[in-house]
Amino acid sequence: MIRMNDVTVVYDNGIRAVNKASLRVDEGEFVFLVGASGSGKSTLMRGLLGLKTPSTGTITFNDLKPTEIGYLPQQTIVQRDFPASVREIVQSGCINRCGLRPFYNKAEKKLAADMMKKLEISDLANRCYRELSGGQQQRVLLARALCAAKKMILLDEPVTGLDPKASAEMYELIESLNKKDGMTVIMVSHDMNAAVKYASHILHLGGKQLFFGTKNDYMNSKIGRAFISAMGGEEYV
Ligand code: ADP
Ligand code: MG
Repeated sequence: MIRMNDVTVVYDNGIRAVNKASLRVDEGEFVFLVGASGSGKSTLMRGLLGLKTPSTGTITFNDLKPTEIGYLPQQTIVQRDFPASVREIVQSGCINRCGLRPFYNKAEKKLAADMMKKLEISDLANRCYRELSGGQQQRVLLARALCAAKKMILLDEPVTGLDPKASAEMYELIESLNKKDGMTVIMVSHDMNAAVKYASHILHLGGKQLFFGTKNDYMNSKIGRAFISAMGGEEYV
């Protein structure tokens, strides 16, 4: 579905956020994007979405348009305070389907309602987003991403900051989307236990690309063993 070849992304301030990263994603895969803070994970996602143009390298899509990808961005304190209702936020995931039409049609409203049902947040539809718990907020953003997603979702740290129960529930949801619905998933996470459990492939960034390949190859590699152990997943090493 996606081929990324030697992609480098440089910001206007001269920071080289991604340095020669390559990646291949095929249908049904579950790719974990790992690496220290500042290693370019979020920037690489923005590159895949077409929100940031690579300085060099190529990204090609096969059987997939960037508008068929759902995106759950990394959260900031400001976004957590967003003063809109749950329904409004979930429906906004349909914006790419609207084209130039300035309102949501029946089918889009139904899609948003279906996604709220799927993520068990229908009863929150009229609530204000900023009054919700962290776990509820992430479900709302996942429902929003699913309104946009036809084949693939990109999730940037969807469980960071959640308590263990909410985090486990998010992982179960994401796993079911991948396994049952056949959704291709690319996810940023610092949780190496989850990576070991769920990933089919792992991309490890750090200054340059440190690894890309299957989870099993990663777990047998020097870099993989060291990182899993350093991040608290030592029971697998
Ligand atoms: P990660 O998601 O792995 O923490 P980021 O992709 O957010 O990493 O950031 C990679 C590098 O790019 C960091 O050095 C960061 O400071 C820098 N960076 C991120 N966003 C911007 C931006 N909008 N403008 C300039 N530099 C940025
Ligand atoms: Mg990030």
